[in-house]
Amino acid sequence: MSRTTPPPARRPMTHDELRERTPLGHSLSSHRVFGWCSHCADHTPAEELVAWRVWAQNLLLTVPLENLGLQVLEDSPTGGRDA
Ligand SMILES: [Zn+2]
Repeated sequence: MSRTTPPPARRPMTHDELRERTPLGHSLSSHRVFGWCSHCADHTPAEELVAWRVWAQNLLLTVPLENLGLQVLEDSPTGGRDA
């Protein structure tokens, strides 16, 4: 499995569970989504940045823009997905 691939779907952790499993000073957001962050051994800030970009790109491709609170431009030939 690639480092940028999110873990398989499972019951979302509660915030308390996430805080218990995430080392102090590490990114709760990254640990929630990827299970690691740039403060973890063997990971760099550049890896975390790439992981977040891939995550965001996948989100934009799979979730309707309206559901993200984004406006679809009617005159856009790509329907607003030309980022
Ligand atoms: Zn970490």
